[in-house]
Amino acid sequence: MTLNLPMCDLNATGGDMSEEEMHQAIDAIKQRMGDDLIILGHHYQRDSIVQHADLLGDSFLLSRMASESKAENIVFCGVHFMAESADILSRDEQKVSLPNLRAGCSMADMANLEQVEDCWQQLIPGLGLSDPITRADQNAPAEESESYLVPVTYMNSSAELKSFVGAHGGIVCTSSNAAGILDWAFDKAGPNGKVLFFPDQHLGRNTGLAMGLQEDEMAIWSPDDFPDWDALKKSRIILWHGYCSVHRRFNTGQIEALREQDPEALVVVHPECTREVVDASDAVGSTEFIKRYVEEAPSGSRIGVGTEINMVKRLNDQHPGKEIECLDPMVCPCSTMYMIHPTYLLDVLQRIEAGEEANRIIVPEEIAENAKTALDRMLSIPV
Ligand code: SF4
Repeated sequence: MTLNLPMCDLNATGGDMSEEEMHQAIDAIKQRMGDDLIILGHHYQRDSIVQHADLLGDSFLLSRMASESKAENIVFCGVHFMAESADILSRDEQKVSLPNLRAGCSMADMANLEQVEDCWQQLIPGLGLSDPITRADQNAPAEESESYLVPVTYMNSSAELKSFVGAHGGIVCTSSNAAGILDWAFDKAGPNGKVLFFPDQHLGRNTGLAMGLQEDEMAIWSPDDFPDWDALKKSRIILWHGYCSVHRRFNTGQIEALREQDPEALVVVHPECTREVVDASDAVGSTEFIKRYVEEAPSGSRIGVGTEINMVKRLNDQHPGKEIECLDPMVCPCSTMYMIHPTYLLDVLQRIEAGEEANRIIVPEEIAENAKTALDRMLSIPV
């Protein structure tokens, strides 16, 4: 897909404004636009963006909110794949804008359509499985005798991959609902069928293990390596090799160090962390889960958290009676989420108010249709 990438000129707006003046200008535009505008913010955004968000959540919650919002203009303070999903789920008259078009996701970039199609072309004959694209009813459970390869893509993927998944009888998942989605996919694959899960190997592996699968029932697929056909044949889930560079930084040594300092300390991590980190933690779950875990922990708790630093710092500020700290003392923010700065937000809002389609994200119809099928399948499954 070709993207139009006009860059925000930092000197064009906000450049000679103080931070405070910028915030006032953003608030003033919000007030003038009223119900015509909604600003969505992901938990990993910095505080100076979150203070302007009408709704704050993870990608799952925000994708629902975008589809239910009445506003004509949706400004998505997150990364590119989230804004694409909001565009796919929104009504025709709604316009989705991303304040900085360079805000992508390194994990989402680890799988592209060409690579996934190549993998698919090898796996279907190599494993003797059927492509669900041939099924009259892709939402029906497989018969005992049928064996399909069902694709599941994490929300953190391009619209093109969601479209591929929708066309091939598959589904989208998030870190909030991955177990329910894998259940759905196994049902569609049949007793001897398999699931191809991309792009995050860790979410796939951690979810599979939590559902009772063994490590050797999950094989890795890397587009750069020769396939290990023995491992692939034994597997129930084929895991794309991708990972999140932020969550990969957490390790068991950090958890041991925290527990050495304070044996009572609790540890909660995101499922994009490695299996070893998840095994060493007290709890694992999505950003919404982590938020609830911290809220529900008894006053006086010390909690080490394995997720993005902006969210961890905010949780600490919001819970003065608890000590909330990042497991990695050296951790940096997610570099692409961090690309959304108030200067960019103000710039995009000023242009939208002036009637421009500023930094609009438009997923072409031929991609959006099947991507929506995959997203609608996800949204129809109770979490
Ligand atoms: S935290 Fe990881 S998965 Fe999330 S946007 Fe950043 S790089 Fe992508």
